Amino acid sequence: MKIKAQMAMVLNLDKCLGCHTCSVPCKNAWTTAPGSEYMWFNNVETKPGTGYPHLWENQNLHKGGWTTKNGKLRLKAGGKLRKYTQIFGNPNLPGMEQYYEPWNFDYKSLTTSPEQKHQPMAQAYSSVTGQPMTPKSGPNWDDDLGGTHVTGQDDPNFAGLDAKALLEFQRVFMLHLPRLCEHCLNPACVASCPSGAIYKRDEDGIVLTDQTRCRSWRFCMSGCPYKKVYFNWKSHHSQKCIFCYPRVESGQPTLCAQSCTGRIRYIGVMLYDADAVHAMASRPETELYQAHLDVFLDPNDPAVCQQAIKDGIPHPFITAAQASPTYKLIAEWKLALPLHPEFRTLPMVWYIPPASPQKPEEQAGDALEHMRIPPRYLANLFTAGDEAPVRSALHKLLALRNYMRQRTFGGEEASQCLESAGLDPQTTEAMYRLLAVARYEDRFVIPTARRENAQGEDVEALKGYAGYPGNCPCSPQFKGRQA
Ligand code: SF4
Ligand code: SF4
Repeated sequence: MKIKAQMAMVLNLDKCLGCHTCSVPCKNAWTTAPGSEYMWFNNVETKPGTGYPHLWENQNLHKGGWTTKNGKLRLKAGGKLRKYTQIFGNPNLPGMEQYYEPWNFDYKSLTTSPEQKHQPMAQAYSSVTGQPMTPKSGPNWDDDLGGTHVTGQDDPNFAGLDAKALLEFQRVFMLHLPRLCEHCLNPACVASCPSGAIYKRDEDGIVLTDQTRCRSWRFCMSGCPYKKVYFNWKSHHSQKCIFCYPRVESGQPTLCAQSCTGRIRYIGVMLYDADAVHAMASRPETELYQAHLDVFLDPNDPAVCQQAIKDGIPHPFITAAQASPTYKLIAEWKLALPLHPEFRTLPMVWYIPPASPQKPEEQAGDALEHMRIPPRYLANLFTAGDEAPVRSALHKLLALRNYMRQRTFGGEEASQCLESAGLDPQTTEAMYRLLAVARYEDRFVIPTARRENAQGEDVEALKGYAGYPGNCPCSPQFKGRQA
């Protein structure tokens, strides 16, 4: 066993407003340079829909991620040999039509226009050719179902469902899906890069691109099944979400998480067994969700702590993992689920599925049968089609709603509705606190970079800090204090 630490994010889709506030600071901070106009390290999609870039989930088209052959993992687009033969003509690159032709408006015409009968218009000009153009697609083309009547049929998450019927006006449903790089445990982008320019850094698992080593082959772009690597058409280098590492290193959340108006985002550390990653990613499709859970290690297990110390995990990371909101939501309570585990990259941005509106008289179990968003659709999105984990997570969420409603307004014994969801009042209260009223420091538990190595620190002051080695339950200092 080789223990590593990984930064992870959980998004509670039950609370996402689709306001796009998360995308704006990200865009302003990281992708304002020429050539990066079309890059959205964080974007928010409306489902049903085909997302951004268009049809990114369709791997028959894009050939991203991994597949298995005789039980062994293979890049879907082919291994090294095939890559070298395609190095000057990558056939799996999404074209500009799958993104959009970036444009800007001629705002000057609005302010300098002479007085006239009609209001002046700002003409769109292509940022690529400089010529006047009419925008025909964009990063958010099916926003709030605006284009779903056209694109919805192509949404691959309708597999096994009657898409036509579910897109009818009276039955259609909607959810928002904010997306960023998944900082995967088994990243296909890293494995696809012939130059070794894209790498997963050891200390916290953030996946980064070394701009000086990038040779413009763009295999990372086609290899990433989430289509979260972009190519800067001016600098000719690949760029991607950097999980705001300069902020994370100083203990601050990413900009998308910090700015989220719905407070739907959680960031924490997960400990995992790096030696198990490939075996788990190779498991049969329907077992992938459980396999992914099996890679994670319990940070409160003393044996895991001891091994983590041996493997060089700094104490602040271990204490952060013990208080991690992501560990609770993913592994302890099993409320959060991975996005398209069938891509086999073991993604590390997980989602709590949205529960549809519930009538007050419905019990959690009954409500599942009448949900507007079909559990099968959510299962295609989060658990490779296996409905059981989705139903279990939704059942818990609905039981939590019922419990809080009955506890607040009276009615039957509040705890009765918890039993069928496998919950007890104590766990439910803890879930309620984290999901509904969590403080900033509960939502973001982020260790600073190697603080315990600081020289000349005031030791007394450090004792109040969660990352101080002596505050870790497995450290000799802590044990000494307990004795
Ligand atoms: S989601 Fe991020 S880490 Fe995963 S394959 Fe794509 S670019 Fe790489
Ligand atoms: S993730 Fe947060 S900021 Fe982004 S759209 Fe959803 S609620 Fe708004």
